[in-house]
Amino acid sequence: MSAERFEALKALNGTLTFEEPLKGHTSFKIGGPAEAFFVPETEEALKKAVAFAKTNGIPCRILGNGSNLLVSDDGVRGLVIMLSGGLTALETTGDGRIFSAAGVSLKRLCVFALEQGLTGLEFAYGIPGSVGGAVYMNAGAYGGEIKTVLSSVRVLDPATGEITELDAGDLDISYRHTPFMTNGLIITGAAFRLEAGDRTEIRAKMDELLGRRKASQPLTFPSAGSTFKRPKNGYAAAMIDECGLKGFSVGGAEVSTKHAGFVVNKGDATCKDVLAVIDGVRKTVLEQKETVLETEVEIWE
Ligand SMILES: Cc1cc2nc3c(=O)[nH]c(=O)nc-3n(C[C@H](O)[C@H](O)[C@H](O)COP(=O)(O)OP(=O)(O)OC[C@H]3O[C@@H](n4cnc5c(N)ncnc54)[C@H](O)[C@@H]3O)c2cc1C
Repeated sequence: MSAERFEALKALNGTLTFEEPLKGHTSFKIGGPAEAFFVPETEEALKKAVAFAKTNGIPCRILGNGSNLLVSDDGVRGLVIMLSGGLTALETTGDGRIFSAAGVSLKRLCVFALEQGLTGLEFAYGIPGSVGGAVYMNAGAYGGEIKTVLSSVRVLDPATGEITELDAGDLDISYRHTPFMTNGLIITGAAFRLEAGDRTEIRAKMDELLGRRKASQPLTFPSAGSTFKRPKNGYAAAMIDECGLKGFSVGGAEVSTKHAGFVVNKGDATCKDVLAVIDGVRKTVLEQKETVLETEVEIWE
């Protein structure tokens, strides 16, 4: 494939590269090249890039921080637009609300809320995603979830090129489920409704939760966090552990010996290795626990 068909993107405000290795943009450190890879600096550039892809029939995918993604070893054809590092506006509206562009990291958002003396986002400190990615999948941890603090979502509709604000109350959001997983809208930003709090207490809560993460999660190996969603009848990690699958490996991919809910990359894992581990785990858990495990990690094949 040639770069010429993406020529028009060069004029947009952003960074355009070709055959960009996606392993450099995913927390799993896995993934082949993106045919074209664009990081827009502005919402307008994003809008134009998406319109360009639509007009020319080029498949277009949105990447946040790549922390919930498993990308094929062959990479992906078409255009990948990464919002992390580009769309990074962050501001308080003074009434307990914060507006964040989609490319802001959750860590930055949480620290900003702390600086403003606003409480409600402490649970998200330590989740290594972008605001867009977190809204997309209703990220959550330690009893909190994005849904509870979300006020509105700013979206770009690739079909019409229009940007609108959606009231969070009108959205059907539940555990690791949002309409964005199926409706094709691109999240360009979100507003969060928080409450006034004590900075020392907010900081202490953030530190405590980060400490719990470090103690329980295999953070020294690349991964995409919890591989599977929580099934209705229990916890995926506990079931995988009870099936004796800690340490189960294929190639460089392994069910973490520290936390059975994570598949980790021990150094040279391929996408195929990870998929084989996922497959093996799902089969054993189905046999022994009569439970179907659904992947939480998104797969780009
Ligand atoms: C060590 C570790 C710990 C983790 N802990 C947690 C945890 O406690 N709780 C939790 O919920 N998750 C956790 N995760 C998973 C991950 O961090 C979250 O799912 C996060 O919200 C993903 O955001 P992202 O920006 O990295 O999304 P990406 O991985 O880049 O993308 C994921 C999906 O979202 C879509 N997407 C991203 N941005 C947008 C956008 N702006 N508009 C439309 N679609 C978009 C992508 O197309 C893709 O389909 C963890 C991951 C790791 C590696």
